[in-house]
Amino acid sequence: MFELVTEKNVDIAAEIHSLSWKESHRSFCSEEFVQGHTIERQKQYIQNEIENGKTFYMLIEDGAKGIVSVKDNLIENLYVSPSEQHKGHGTRLIKYAELMCKGITILWILSNNEVASNFYKKNGYNFTGNRKFLNNNLFELEMQHEMDNWFTVEMLDETTYVISEYKHSEETHCYLLLGKEKALLIDTGLGVANIKEVVDKITSLPIMVVTTHGHWDHIGGHRFFEEFAVHEEEKEWIMDKFPLPLSVVKQNLLDGNCDFPKSFDIEDYNIFSGIPQQILQDGDEIDLGNRKVEVLHTPGHSPGHCCFYEAEKGYLYSGDLIYKGCLDMFYPTTNPELFAQSIERVSKFEVKRILPGHHSLDVPVEIILNIKNAFLSLKKDGDLEQGKGIFEFGEFQIHL
Ligand SMILES: [Zn+2]
Ligand SMILES: [Zn+2]
Repeated sequence: MFELVTEKNVDIAAEIHSLSWKESHRSFCSEEFVQGHTIERQKQYIQNEIENGKTFYMLIEDGAKGIVSVKDNLIENLYVSPSEQHKGHGTRLIKYAELMCKGITILWILSNNEVASNFYKKNGYNFTGNRKFLNNNLFELEMQHEMDNWFTVEMLDETTYVISEYKHSEETHCYLLLGKEKALLIDTGLGVANIKEVVDKITSLPIMVVTTHGHWDHIGGHRFFEEFAVHEEEKEWIMDKFPLPLSVVKQNLLDGNCDFPKSFDIEDYNIFSGIPQQILQDGDEIDLGNRKVEVLHTPGHSPGHCCFYEAEKGYLYSGDLIYKGCLDMFYPTTNPELFAQSIERVSKFEVKRILPGHHSLDVPVEIILNIKNAFLSLKKDGDLEQGKGIFEFGEFQIHL
């Protein structure tokens, strides 16, 4: 697994940095200069870099194996412990760092470092031609990854990741929760790129896929996994009776106005269908090993819509029940009354953070109360009926 480097483990990170740096610079730097890079000095360096906005990650697998830092689209400080080299740790670190980058990844290598140059070429990097001179005969060369990431990945805490599709206007979010024994993936997104490849770079735990609801934009990547679970009321949908025709779904995908990954062809796109291996019911508890997630059946946006709740962290994975944007309950398969009841229900839980199915991740918990009040006022005015149109409430709208 990957840990954030903070005060609690910076000494270990500094030791890796110091030992590995010395090893890689010994052949062309003076011994005095090499010895100057002590653990204490590298600790100071890492602390300064963190203060300047860089995030350091450490690969742990029966002990610390290596570190890497990321800031925006720049990867730096990839160091593997000298005793742990040639075991694939460097590749795991670079793949993970790429996920945590925003945009097309770049990095710089020393012009005399052929080992690094070959390593990065093998991992899909090319020289851009940009160089920085360090002294007369030594310079750094810029390398850039040949591919842009379709997904954006962020670590919410050390065992919780959000995998987002910001390039598409739906801005769908999927969540990966790591327990001690297994990992839970909540939704799989549009399905235009392989989300399993992302998950595999983060964890080697067995994956359980659960579905907030069976709309096409949340189940597209289910096909990459062997098993998935869905609420009993949407079992039929996901097996073959999705209520929207393929042509409409394709149009919705194309309306996202984005550059799809090269490997994606709209002609080949199909709405996912498959047989769920597990059926979700209200109150089910999913145990990931030292981490428990509760299933809340929250119908309204769709008949089998579920939110997932983690009491210990106070996280509510709210799917399409709560997000900043237009809350949809205008399709024939939606039900505004049930939607209102579901909001009422989740308002009773102690929620510290809302993790929505779409758009901004910065959703204040007060939004639950605001949506509840919006429903009350719609009801009072006799407007809580399908076909009434879109009502504006600031950070969200209600589409009836
Ligand atoms: Zn939906
Ligand atoms: Zn959705």
